[in-house]
Amino acid sequence: HAAAAGPASDAVGGHLAHNYHPLPLTLVAGEGAWVRDTDGREYLDMLAGYSALNFGHRHPALVAAAHAQLDRITLTSRAFDHDLLEPFADRLAALTGTEMVLPMNTGAEAVETAIKAARKWGYDVRGVPADQATIVVMDGNFHGRTTTVVSFSTDDDARLGFGPYTPGFRVVPFGDADALRAAMDETTVAVLIEPIQGESGVIMPPEGYLAAVRTACDEAGALLIADEIQSGLGRTGTTFACELWGVTPDLMTLGKALGGGILPVSAVVGRADVLGVLTAGTHGSTFGGNPFACAVGLAVIELLETGEFQARARELGAHLADRLDALVADGLLVARRGAGLWAGIDVDPARMTGRELCERLMERRVLAKDTHGSTIRLAPPLMISAADLGWGLDQLADALR
Ligand code: PLP
Repeated sequence: HAAAAGPASDAVGGHLAHNYHPLPLTLVAGEGAWVRDTDGREYLDMLAGYSALNFGHRHPALVAAAHAQLDRITLTSRAFDHDLLEPFADRLAALTGTEMVLPMNTGAEAVETAIKAARKWGYDVRGVPADQATIVVMDGNFHGRTTTVVSFSTDDDARLGFGPYTPGFRVVPFGDADALRAAMDETTVAVLIEPIQGESGVIMPPEGYLAAVRTACDEAGALLIADEIQSGLGRTGTTFACELWGVTPDLMTLGKALGGGILPVSAVVGRADVLGVLTAGTHGSTFGGNPFACAVGLAVIELLETGEFQARARELGAHLADRLDALVADGLLVARRGAGLWAGIDVDPARMTGRELCERLMERRVLAKDTHGSTIRLAPPLMISAADLGWGLDQLADALR
């Protein structure tokens, strides 16, 4: 029955939908950078929940904040305020250097929210004719799985079969500022960009590109929306990837690590004159900004305010880059890219697929995940010890030989 329902899956049982192809192991426990499976085997987590686990599994401060809040109040809906909502917004605004915060739950919802705000701002403030707003996005983007967001995906697996597609998006090559300027006109309300493309394989922008995007937006009167859902919150050695190039976006989407690996917490942060176009009744979410989410989110913000995690990502990231460069020099890797404690590595497709490399790593008790073809992404928790990181990279070198 299960086999007839779709592509082969390693999942046990027949009732689970087949929208993932996980590695064949079943996890039961996690602490810090390590997880344990049903057979009692321990694995080093070098994926960290696609960067949702930047602080590791069950960080004590985050678990304590969650426990404490479970004993107070967990959900009010936004029909009623609660005592952590304003503090969460204030602290997140301070951390991000922005004026306004709109809390949501998942990353895709934050992106949808940013798109809605940009369109409404375009009509209300910029005077774009009704229903004519365009948003420029990048080839190779990944912003989530909702119908509007997959409408402008350039990955056939993500997009095909899910039409009709939401209009109003123009796709340009990532890294080509001329193409971007050519795609922008008086209908363009925003450029939506991942400063570093995560799902595409940790693709770095060419030098000067993000600054050129900023300038193009300023010249066209369009908003720069940075999707920092995967790149943000310490991963790159800075709090946000945009800081690496000194670029300030008008709106930023955050998610993943904002929930500390405990629950989904996302937000759009940015200019008050933009987010301010959303008024009562025009946008909402039952769970967005709930007390449990705010309690954990506040604890996450406190961890980031210390700067410790960003510093670790920088220091360990330099070590990671050196070790990966050595693997490239030895001919074991074709290329490596990245920033901070975040790397995309390519293996020679003639030697093995990314999937095969991940399976070899799993045999050596290291967990990572392929992205496309022969590319895998390394994104260990930022609290990983230097010794564990070194051991994990020893396993990588061994798996590649
Ligand atoms: N935006 C970026 C840059 C992402 O990497 C992701 C998830 O990988 C998303 C948005 C979607 O987030 P979620 O899966 O929480 O909807």
